[in-house]
Order: sequence, then C-alpha cells, then structure tokens
Amino acid sequence: MSKGLTSRSEDYSQWYNELVAKADLAEHSAVRGCMVIKPYGYSIWEKMQAVLDQKFKETGHSNAYFPLFIPKSFFSKEASHVDGFATECAVVTHYRLKNDGSGNIIVDEDAKLEEELIVRPTSETIIWNTYKGWIQSYRDLPILVNQWANVVRWEMRTRLFLRTAEFLWQEGHTAHATAEEAIAETEQMLDVYADFAENWMALPVVKGKKTANERFAGALDTYCIEALMQDGKALQAGTSHFLGQNFAKAFDVKFTSKEGKQEFVWATSWGVSTRLMGALIMAHSDDSGLVLPPKLAPIQVVIVPIYKGEEELAKISEAVDVIIKDLKKKGISVKYDDRDTQRPGFKFAEYELKGVPVRLAMGGRDLENNTVELARRDTKTKETVSRDGIADKIELLLEEIQQNIYHKALQFRIENTRKVDSYDDFKKALDETPGFIAAHWDGTSETEAKIKEETKATIRCIPLNNEQEEGVCMVTGKPSSQRVLFARAY
Ligand code: AMP
Repeated sequence: MSKGLTSRSEDYSQWYNELVAKADLAEHSAVRGCMVIKPYGYSIWEKMQAVLDQKFKETGHSNAYFPLFIPKSFFSKEASHVDGFATECAVVTHYRLKNDGSGNIIVDEDAKLEEELIVRPTSETIIWNTYKGWIQSYRDLPILVNQWANVVRWEMRTRLFLRTAEFLWQEGHTAHATAEEAIAETEQMLDVYADFAENWMALPVVKGKKTANERFAGALDTYCIEALMQDGKALQAGTSHFLGQNFAKAFDVKFTSKEGKQEFVWATSWGVSTRLMGALIMAHSDDSGLVLPPKLAPIQVVIVPIYKGEEELAKISEAVDVIIKDLKKKGISVKYDDRDTQRPGFKFAEYELKGVPVRLAMGGRDLENNTVELARRDTKTKETVSRDGIADKIELLLEEIQQNIYHKALQFRIENTRKVDSYDDFKKALDETPGFIAAHWDGTSETEAKIKEETKATIRCIPLNNEQEEGVCMVTGKPSSQRVLFARAY
C-alpha cells in the first residue's frame, strides 16, 4: 500500500486531490481542464444518474437529445444569456485538416464554416429554437424534457469534479402555458434535487434563491441548493431556473391559448452535474479515504477471507457463499475479494480508501464459531458477530450508516453556521471559523459586489424558509428584513 493521504487539517485541498486519485475516481487528462472519470468514479456517477433519472420520470419528464453544437447566431438572440456565457465558449471554426505538403497537419483554411458553432455550455438556445416547431397551441403544453449530456464551459481555474471545462450533467428544459405553472415546476425540481442530496447523498442542503448578481444568465429567478464542505466552504450543488418568457421571446415561441389568444410560452431549466461527485467526496470522507453513503456505494459490502492454505479457503468460500446469496436476495451489492495476490491488510486499506460501507472478514476461527468480523467504514468500528441473521443485520446497518453520515454532516453545518451583525465580525468569522454566515444585507447589488470584492465571500442564497427579522445591513446600515447566507465558495 502506498503512503497514506495528506490529512484534511494539514492541507484540505491536497487531501481532496490525493483522495480523488488514490480512490481511483478520476484523473487529469491531456486536455487542460478536462478529466478522465475512471471506472470506480463512473460507477458512483451512474448510481446518481439512475436515481435522478427515475425521479425525473416519476415527475412526468422524458429524456431527449439535442446537438452538441449551437450556431453562434442563436446565442446572440438572448442578450443576457450571451453576456453570461461569452467569456467561456469553445468555438468551432473549421471542419477539415490537411497535410501542408511537408508532413505537417494544419487546419484547412478552405474549410472554414460559414457560421461558427459553439460547443454547448448549456442548451436553452438550441432547445428553444427546436420548441418553436413543437408548440402551436395550449394542447402542445407542457413540454417536460430532460437531456443527459456533456457541456463545455472554458473555465480558467479547474478542480476535478468541482469545476471542469467539460462536465457531464443533466439539463431539464420545460415549456408551460402560464407563469404559475413554470414557477411550480422550478420549485418542484428544486425539491427533487434537495430530496436526492439529503436522502441519497446524505448531504444536507439549504434551499434558496440566488441574488440578481448570482442568477443564471437569462433567468428571472434562480433557485439553488447549497451545501457546506468540511473546510467550511460552500458548494452550489444544483440549480433550477425560472426563465420567464425570455427564451420564448428570443426564439419567437408562441402558442394559441384556450381563449384563442397568441401568447409567449413560459420556460424553466434545471441541472445538476458531476460536481455532485465532488460534493459527495468532500462532505463525508476522512483522512483514511472515501466515506460513501450506502445508497450510492457501488459495492456496499466487501468480504475478505483470512486463510491458511487452499483447503481453509475452500471452506471459508463455502460459508461466504451463503452470506452472498442472502445479501443479493435483499438487493445488497457485495464483492468477495479472494485474490491471492494481496494480503488481507492491503485489501482492508484499499476498501477503506474506496469507502465501502461494510466490510466482513472471515477466518478459521469464525468458521468454527459460526461468526464473522463486521467493520463499518463510517465509524471505523468492528465487532465479531454471529452469522445467523447476518443479512438482516447488514440491511439494518446500511440504513443506520446512511442516517449516521447524514446527521454528522448536518451537525457540522449547524455548528458552522453563524449569525453575525457587524462587518468586522463578518470578516473575522470568515478567516477564523469559515462556514455559512447569516447576516443582514441591504438588498443591493452594489453592497453585494463590495463584500465579494473585499472578502471573497458571496451570498450563497436567500433561504426559502427564511425567518423575517428586522435588522440593518452590516455594511451600509440600511434596513433589512431578513438574513441571507454568505460563504466563501467553490
Ligand atoms: P448552471 O447551468 O450554471 O445553473 O449550472 C447547472 C449545474 O452545473 C449546477 O449544479 C452547477 O453547480 C453545475 N456546474 C456549473 N459549472 C460547472 C463546472 N464548470 N463543472 C462542474 N459543474 C458545473
């Protein structure tokens, strides 16, 4: 086994990078800002996708697929949208290479595209251009479509999973007859994300609205879920946008209402990305490696035999077989690692690093005593237990681990959310005890920008279930009716 991880307290950022590499989740690629997601990392993403996909379908959505390329002219149709994305677009200008005669491959200038194509950073424009052909009357509404895709945003400062130039995501794009219906959809999908984060990822999140400065380019309202990482930095884990009629107007998408009137269509869009992998890693893992919530762990139980000689291994394998069958019957994923190329201690460390929630070890004495050694990853405790009813016990234990991880993260967030009333205390808190800071703000973009400029903290959201509380802005002293959540963020 290679040397352990850098500890979180020593260097959180280094710890994260090492963990992503050593747990075999992802690595940097030859292309700047783009990552290779390795099989173990991808299998976690696939589990996330499967759960989310089912939730989208349960709420009435269907999957479709739109092109990777978007004509440049589409972008210019919605002014704030193009403003928001212009600085991070990859642009395709040519469609052919040629040999220059001396063996060099160069771009063929004769093969210049008449109109440049943008590699999609998000798909509102190409989708609303398509919806124009799908929508004539109120009978064609709503359209409830989701797409699973890759997108490209030319980010300058990248981190594996958290912020990459190319990332995988899903983007929902819905079309509605009324504003009320579109807002209800925006809120519904935010709830879907929050439910997924809390009950599958074991990640407590704050649901809120973004301020005008932090809003999606082209949206009237951006809702988000915000999570707190173990270093006290916030992470925006998902967004759901109410787009109003902006894209319908830009692409001239009208419908005939029941009353026979021509009206513009109302829109939403919502997305979560492979950033969720980063959130999952950062929220729960420890200095020994990943800690995965059982509901998203590709391997929930690993069994390691401890044996002397082939004969004992055969007997242990026979006993293990019974456990495997019982676990599989319950839908629990289990791996039996009987490789003879590695010692048990090496295997233990490897599964610890990979965050397998439950580890069983069985040796000669367990064979005699009808027992097995059971270790849980989250608390790093172990006990020797009877093999009678072991599958039932593990089923309950997996649920307990899921709950324990969630509550630990929730406790952390509670302990690291502070109310602050003066700008001096605010700055002090940011440096000394990072986390969420609930403070009064005068509601202006100017004050928000000043705070960001001076402290690098942003308003993560205006929480949806906010208490109304009279106060004064910590910077300008102007009146404020509620606290908003600030933090430095990823
Ligand atoms: P947006 O379209 O900007 O609202 O983003 C949709 C989702 O993608 C949000 O959940 C973001 O957190 C996530 N996201 C945005 N940019 C990146 C990036 N560069 N890498 C990974 N995820 C991202």
